[in-house]
Amino acid sequence: MKIVIVGAGIGGLATALSLEAAGFRDIEIHERTTEIRGLGVGLNLLPHAIRELTELGLDDRISTLGVAPATLSYMNRQGQLIWSEPRGVEAGYRWPQLSVHRGRLQLALRDAVIERLGDVIRLGHRLIDVRTGDHGREIARFENADGLKVEAEGDVIVGADGIHSALRALRYPAEGAPPWSGLTLWRGVAVVPEFLDGRTMIMAGDPEQKFVAYPLAAEPGDAGARVNFIAERRGTGSPDADWNRSVDPWPIAALFEGWTYDWLDIPAVISAAEQILEYPMVDRDALPRWTFGRTTLLGDAAHAMYPNGSNGGSQAILDARTLAFHLATEPDIDPALAAYEHARRPAMTELLATTRATGPERVMQIARERAPEGFADVHDVISAEELEEVANGYKRAAGFHPSTLNERASLSAVRA
Ligand SMILES: Cc1cc2nc3c(=O)[nH]c(=O)nc-3n(C[C@H](O)[C@H](O)[C@H](O)COP(=O)(O)OP(=O)(O)OC[C@H]3O[C@@H](n4cnc5c(N)ncnc54)[C@H](O)[C@@H]3O)c2cc1C
Repeated sequence: MKIVIVGAGIGGLATALSLEAAGFRDIEIHERTTEIRGLGVGLNLLPHAIRELTELGLDDRISTLGVAPATLSYMNRQGQLIWSEPRGVEAGYRWPQLSVHRGRLQLALRDAVIERLGDVIRLGHRLIDVRTGDHGREIARFENADGLKVEAEGDVIVGADGIHSALRALRYPAEGAPPWSGLTLWRGVAVVPEFLDGRTMIMAGDPEQKFVAYPLAAEPGDAGARVNFIAERRGTGSPDADWNRSVDPWPIAALFEGWTYDWLDIPAVISAAEQILEYPMVDRDALPRWTFGRTTLLGDAAHAMYPNGSNGGSQAILDARTLAFHLATEPDIDPALAAYEHARRPAMTELLATTRATGPERVMQIARERAPEGFADVHDVISAEELEEVANGYKRAAGFHPSTLNERASLSAVRA
């Protein structure tokens, strides 16, 4: 069986590795860019994703890339603690959460693909069309870096080509650009004095304006902690979703004037960034169908979500493992693709809705509504039971409860 993957991002590379582990060898990845440069800033891999990478035998090389946050703390604009909870192993998962640089993760997955499958990545190949050929085989058409048209035929074509997916656009030509929430995100990495215990991820503010920060692995020569941050605000910026648009840090730091606490100086962190990338908070509407013939969608192409939900990379890895599992265990391709979609699409539709409804960050919204100037004691404004209910309600709805993951059967399978 030949499988053609479109896109060498986290999802496409994880798909190739999952298929290889499931016993498939005839795999090609076609990537639009002419070089995999490992772009981006921080990305969180939830314990679900670390379990899959561990079962793929990649844990050693991935764990050295990141920092495992032990705590997630929600603060108000004044920097006062609203809610704090353990993460990863500390929260009872058998696998850690890992904060990594997206580009380093992508390069590590690319290297693993080359080691295990050889020279299977075709760079400079932009998908432009797909058609069904003889015997139900699918033919993908690409434009290469020289402007030439080349074709690749496969028994299955997987569209892992990101939020601006070409395969998705071919299936849903009227869909248009990703809908914008009205919020703009400014993402950056800065080397600054360590904050709190050095393993805490923080979110400060509320749904109108927020700052998220977490430590990343140090790099040689760093004189301080390497911190990834996302500054977020409603009503500024543009809805044009380009991951690599760079802007000047100073105006962004000015938006956070006064957000200086004894444990973190937010304007100073923003000002210290090597580069600030502006990105509108966009996602995609849930789709009624991912699979058409023997083509299907995966990762952001299927279900792009707000980047601050920590789900983009993790859910793409889960898609990859689920697809490989069903292709290995079902007797034929069509039921395998149906089983993949059945396992993943409804779950992603629900997660998308939960992410749009601000999920666990609702505690910040409640604190803002009830005590915009701050509080003497958080329990004067939100009871302990209410805080607990928001946090646990989200975990239940999103299937993130430790027992759900710890007790679930493995997705490792090798085809007969
Ligand atoms: C440059 C870049 C930077 C990012 N930075 C961050 C970040 O800092 N933090 C974060 O949380 N998330 C970031 N993301 C998004 C994050 O990687 C995804 O949400 C998540 O990993 C899901 O991965 P994916 O493989 O589905 O999509 P992506 O990682 O977006 O990968 C899609 C791949 O498909 C390729 N592609 C697109 N169109 C075509 C086509 N027509 N033909 C062939 N190939 C195509 C793209 O070049 C890309 O390599 C970034 C994505 C990109 C592309």
